[in-house]
Amino acid sequence: MQNSEIIWELVDAKRQPFEALSDRVWGMPEIAYTEYRSVGEHIAMLKEQGFRITENVAGIPTAVMGEGGEGGPVIAILGEYDALPGLSQEANIAEPKPVEAGGHGHGCGHNMLGSAALLAATAVKDWLAKTGRPGRVRYFGCPAEEGGAAKAFMVRAGAFDDVDVAISWHPSSMTKVDDAMSLANTRMDFQFTGRASHAAAAPHLGRSALDAVELMNVGVNYMREHMPSDARIHYAYLDAGGIAPNVVQASAKVRYAIRARDLAGMLELNERVKKIAEGAALMTETAVSISIMSAVSNMLGNTPLEDAMFKNIDRLGPVPFDAADKAYAAKIQATLGPADILNDYRKTGIAPRENTPLCDFVVPQGTRGVPMIGSTDVADVSWKVPTIQARVATHAIGTPGHSWQITAQGKAPAAHKGMVHAAKIMAATAVDVISDETLLARAKKDHQERVTRTPYVCPIPADVKPPIKPRPAAAA
Ligand SMILES: [Zn+2]
Repeated sequence: MQNSEIIWELVDAKRQPFEALSDRVWGMPEIAYTEYRSVGEHIAMLKEQGFRITENVAGIPTAVMGEGGEGGPVIAILGEYDALPGLSQEANIAEPKPVEAGGHGHGCGHNMLGSAALLAATAVKDWLAKTGRPGRVRYFGCPAEEGGAAKAFMVRAGAFDDVDVAISWHPSSMTKVDDAMSLANTRMDFQFTGRASHAAAAPHLGRSALDAVELMNVGVNYMREHMPSDARIHYAYLDAGGIAPNVVQASAKVRYAIRARDLAGMLELNERVKKIAEGAALMTETAVSISIMSAVSNMLGNTPLEDAMFKNIDRLGPVPFDAADKAYAAKIQATLGPADILNDYRKTGIAPRENTPLCDFVVPQGTRGVPMIGSTDVADVSWKVPTIQARVATHAIGTPGHSWQITAQGKAPAAHKGMVHAAKIMAATAVDVISDETLLARAKKDHQERVTRTPYVCPIPADVKPPIKPRPAAAA
């Protein structure tokens, strides 16, 4: 029996309590840095499974680390459990219907992400105990992936300093090795301050902060033509100054997300956006104060780990979806446009398939699609240690990211099958690294070559602390 078959049996032996954990976290959606109940569930599971637990990792009360095994290489398996605002949605239906109007929801599937990572870590711990091999596995429960950059703060605090390899996954519509193409991303707030005045009786005495935000946005929109085509800039009004049009708004605030292919490109764009903000303040005789809320790097790949993970994906085969899974996914697909489905194939880089509501195949290694990408704080870990991520099918092909459809599919039988599959892929890859010194050496060499070319700088300014939130009374 190969190592991977043994580890897969160990995953299967414990799948039920971890599927239940995923469903419980789905049912208590908590957003960035407020994941007190969710991390509580993860800590309880770590205790139950006999991990050595470190709470409050990097001074973040909703981050946790659990370790198993002794000596040997240290493998980190990264989990998440944060939800998204506004994506509350009932499960297992194919129409938009929030559980709570305007409430939070697991619209990115992080309920599965964390539970599968913890299941993988548990199986590796069980495997280490069973085989008596030297090696340690650490489950990192990482909060605030959505816009909170917790892993970047955790890297900065040294949480991964003695880790050899990090492994993670993300729920997806396709099963594949992640193509490591995420964008560097900064979230920056611009607070404009002017002077209030009666908008009709004394408009000449007012200086509008809202005008400043609007001029800033116009300026940035003109800059788009002159920035790299793979950069992305988006903004949201945090404060438009009030609801009275007959008052000159003295205060207005806009949040920008600035994304670029790499760290250096992002830092350059950040400065250009800042100049535009200062220009808008100059034009309107207002003042602007600028603060970086969070930032993450671009993801670094690792060829030896990609090869090792793909071998496991290939041997394991597609997620074993059944007819009922496909029937529900087809209903979800009926809520999408053909463009959503085509886009999914396009960004994966494979030809569209007819009558394929769920990914009942494995995307071949090396397939490169149209880079249509977001950002992740796993990227900062990837600059610190060799890092590998899987994408595993848990939802219908074409399902948009951050959508009610993802929340709806988050505790369906297909989601459970996908997360157990992901745990098997991660655990088998961890066992490969622990068992094969040459693989670990090659992974480290590959990583060293990448970071020597462009050394890592933490994208978050030194004086910016994780924006931790107090424990709500209900979760105490
Ligand atoms: Zn996500």
